Amino acid sequence: MSYDIVLLGPPGAGKGSHATELKTTYDVPHISTGDMLREALKKQTPLGLEAKAFMDRGELVPDKVVIGLVEERLKQNDTRKGFLLDGFPRTLEQAKELDKALRQMKRALNLVLYFKTSAEVILKRVTGRRVCKACGKIYNIPNFPPKKDGVCDACGGEVIQRKDDAPETALHRLKVYEEQTADLVEYYRKQDTKVWD
Ligand code: AMP
Repeated sequence: MSYDIVLLGPPGAGKGSHATELKTTYDVPHISTGDMLREALKKQTPLGLEAKAFMDRGELVPDKVVIGLVEERLKQNDTRKGFLLDGFPRTLEQAKELDKALRQMKRALNLVLYFKTSAEVILKRVTGRRVCKACGKIYNIPNFPPKKDGVCDACGGEVIQRKDDAPETALHRLKVYEEQTADLVEYYRKQDTKVWD
């Protein structure tokens, strides 16, 4: 039995934080397309550079680019026991391609964890989110700040605000979520995939 799990929900709903805990429980990798794209950007790969303009504006990176990235990632050995997909799929096209890729691997999603949160709470969380540049640890102002301002408790790295977490872009990302991603929960409900709210 494998744990092929999708975490679905708006930005800042807590998908990444939960995935960090769940990956230990289930012993499966946490696959965040946002993290993969940010890593590609940090390394200045052609893919990262292509994605940058979309990410900075809070828009979705084209399906073709992200689907290719995830398909390659799912072929890696560490996904044998399952995976926690965070931030993917975000469009109907991505959801269909994921189903197709899993079918080819003779697998199927076991579970969709749906994070339902109000727009008000999300905006507060996203604009209060801070992240360690070095290890990725997530903080939140004012609820869970680093002990020393701007310094990661875990590794001493620099704690920053993601450019796309600034209020205007965060608001736009929420709109993009409502327009392009929110309906995916119905897509999964109509299938036999188990959805937990
Ligand atoms: P996240 O860290 O999941 O909030 O993603 C940050 C940004 O990366 C998003 O606002 C998009 O620009 C891009 N991104 C991440 N995942 C996807 C995806 N599945 N499809 C398209 N763009 C994505």
